[in-house]
Parts: sequence; C-alpha cells; structure tokens
Amino acid sequence: MPDREVDFLLIGGGMASAHCAAELRRRGAEGSILLVGREPEPPYERPPISKGYLGGDEGREDAHVNPASWYEENGIELLTGKNVLGLDPEARTAKIQGGEEVSFGQALFGTGAMVNILRVEGAENEGIHYLRAFGNADAIRAEAEGAERVVLIGGSYIGCEVAATLTAQGVQCTIIAMEDVALSRSFGADAGRWFQDRLESHGVAFHGGETLSAFEGDGRVGAVIAESGLSVECDLVVVGAGVKPDAMLAQRAGLAVGPGGIVCDSKLQTSVPGIYAAGDCCSYESVVHGRRVHVEHWDVAMQQGIHAAANMLGAEADYEVVPYFFSDLADWASMEYVGPAHEWDREVWRGDREGGEFSVWYLQGERVAGCLSVGRPEELAQARQMIAEGTPFA
Ligand SMILES: Cc1cc2nc3c(=O)[nH]c(=O)nc-3n(C[C@H](O)[C@H](O)[C@H](O)COP(=O)(O)OP(=O)(O)OC[C@H]3O[C@@H](n4cnc5c(N)ncnc54)[C@H](O)[C@@H]3O)c2cc1C
Repeated sequence: MPDREVDFLLIGGGMASAHCAAELRRRGAEGSILLVGREPEPPYERPPISKGYLGGDEGREDAHVNPASWYEENGIELLTGKNVLGLDPEARTAKIQGGEEVSFGQALFGTGAMVNILRVEGAENEGIHYLRAFGNADAIRAEAEGAERVVLIGGSYIGCEVAATLTAQGVQCTIIAMEDVALSRSFGADAGRWFQDRLESHGVAFHGGETLSAFEGDGRVGAVIAESGLSVECDLVVVGAGVKPDAMLAQRAGLAVGPGGIVCDSKLQTSVPGIYAAGDCCSYESVVHGRRVHVEHWDVAMQQGIHAAANMLGAEADYEVVPYFFSDLADWASMEYVGPAHEWDREVWRGDREGGEFSVWYLQGERVAGCLSVGRPEELAQARQMIAEGTPFA
C-alpha cells in the first residue's frame, strides 16, 4: 500500500519541473503537487554556472527559479536531496529515497541530463572537473583562484564559455577540441571562426582537430596530452564533452527510451498515458520540424515544463515552440539561436560581421533550418516565425 497519494508527481528538481509546477497552479489546478529533486538546492537555472556565478558576479539565489518560500506559498511540496528510485507506471506508484511510496495521478519526468565522463589514462588525477551543478562551479572557482593555466576540453559552448569567464578572471586558458573550429558543430565553420577569433583576441589559445589521449599527473593533473602529441601544461582541467539525457529511471520503469532520451509524442506524453517528459531528458515528435527533436536548452526546458502542465490539465496540444538557445562569452560576445539546424546546404550572412552585429541563416533548400543572431534580435524573431510556419526564405 502506498504511504500517500499525490495528484501530480514531478520528478527532477530542475527548470522543467519548476515551471510545470508553476503552470499547474497558474491554470488553477487545485490538486496536490510533489516535486522531488536529488540536489540539495531548490530548482535553479544552470546558465549562470558557466558565466556570472562562475565569475563571482552572481549569487546562488539569483539563479533560483523561485524563492525557496514560493513553493510553500503555492501549495507545492518540494522534496530536495531525494531521489525517485523506482516507478511502477501501471500501479502508478513511485519509490522515494528514504523508503516512502507515493501513488500519483499524473507524472512529469524532468530528470535532465548527465555529463559525459572521459575515461582516458590519468582521468583519476585531482584537478579534473566537469560542470553541471553549483558544487562543480564552486570547486572550479576555488581552484582557479590559485591556478595559472587551465585547459578546457571541448570546443562547444561549455568549453568556450568557461574559457571566456576564467580568462576574464586573469587565468590563462587553452581549449583543446575535436572540432577544427570553436562552436562549429552548432553554427558551422564560418560563424565558429568569428567566435574563435573573439576568444583568441582576448588571449584564449585554441587547438582544434585534436583527440584527447591522456591526462598526465602524479596525483594532480599537470598536463593534457592529445593523440597528435600535443601537450599542454596546466594546473586545472574543465571538461565540456557534452551530456546525455538522464533516462535511467524511465528506462527501468519500462517507458520507451531512445538515443535522444525519453520518447514522447508531439504532446510531450511518454509511451505511458498521463506521464510526460520535458527538458533535457525528453525527445519529442516535432510537428514544426517533421522529425524527432532533442535539445538541451534552458528555454526549451522552461517551455516544455509549461506545455506539459497544460496537457496534464487536458489541453491536448502539440508542442510547437521553436527551440531557442543563447550563450555569452564573458562580455565579448552574445549569441542567440533558433533551430535546431542539424543539416543545411547554404548559409546567408546579413549585417556587419566586422562590426559584430550580424545574423546567419542556415537554409535547407528554401526552408529556414536555423538562424544565429549576434545583436540582431528582430531577425531572430523573423526566423523563428518562418521556421514555425515553414515560410520559404526570401
Ligand atoms: C553550465 C551550464 C551552462 C548552461 N548554459 C546554457 C545557456 O547559456 N543557454 C541555454 O539555452 N542552455 C544552457 N544550459 C542548458 C540548460 O541549463 C539545460 O537545458 C536546463 O537546465 C535543462 O533543465 P531540465 O529541468 O531539463 O534539467 P536539469 O536542469 O538537469 O534538472 C534535472 C534535475 O533532476 C534531477 N534528477 C534526475 N533524476 C532524478 C531522480 N530520479 N530523482 C530526483 N531527481 C532527479 C537532477 O539531479 C537535476 O537536478 C547550460 C547548462 C549547463 C550545465
């Protein structure tokens, strides 16, 4: 027998669950809501972890989605520091760390993503960090204070953002990346080159086309070695080698899970009716793109959490929001992007590349597959609408 019943069980204490809870209340849901997260903190936004919080300009509470008191004020039970250990979709019960069994009416998976861990020689040395949570940023910040040289592994946005933030703190940063050009996997080589130039002009060294071979050190990391023979000395390493959706609990519970995470339909409902997924753990059938989409973006976790709440209350609506992403490289460059364009056959640049205000349109045939904006928000809005409506590029 379950110990108690709740109407809505929100699994995972991140953006997706927090916004789902808020939207349920905003739409007038009166049922009980239980939000369970394994981190000690109330739900928070992760972007500052590689930017303002890592740089010491922002505090923890600035990143909280809601103040801690908001949950009680809105009748939402927030259980932090607890895992949901198991879920029985047929009996509609969940086992919570500590032994409690809860039965639920509807549920949301907002379990997020886990960083990819690099298992190479020397990976056990001290001073090799990953970045997902506040605690990781605290550890990096503390060690960076006494460090002279930091190596970032990975040329995507985490590696580039952290390099920018720490360089602005006076630390010498070197990025070692598999891609030839920074950020080129998302934005192509030309736009990537523009961002890489920005990084290099502020003193970041970039080694592209390199595969990590080993970390050297005698208990503490002292150098990073690539397969080419490149060796870069350092006091500290931060790895940004991508994430994978955290679909472990869903998989154990027998829900459909694919390479992009928990398999959802166009309404964000999983293979089990009444159980939804949102954010980094979710892969959904996109009516906008005509294919399955999985992205790990702050705005998407928020929008999907909100959308899942509406569907829990009977809206039965397809998720039609065009995914949006932003990133900042210290105060040297800010980018916004809508898409995602996994493939494109043509790029159209508009604006003033040298002046640092431009957009890049990624086209597949006449279709807009994505758009990057550096300081051109009106074009981003236009691109978003064209992607949503399938309007040909003119
Ligand atoms: C350093 C960093 C910088 C970023 N910067 C940007 C940016 O600039 N722009 C952008 O668009 N995106 C950015 N992102 C991505 C963005 O933060 C994520 O897309 C967003 O946090 C996803 O929210 P979520 O709710 O899906 O998952 P998460 O924020 O990962 O939250 C999921 C939570 O669920 C918990 N959990 C998992 N399983 C269980 C379980 N069984 N029981 C209980 N709890 C569980 C996890 O521990 C985690 O706390 C950044 C991410 C990181 C890490």
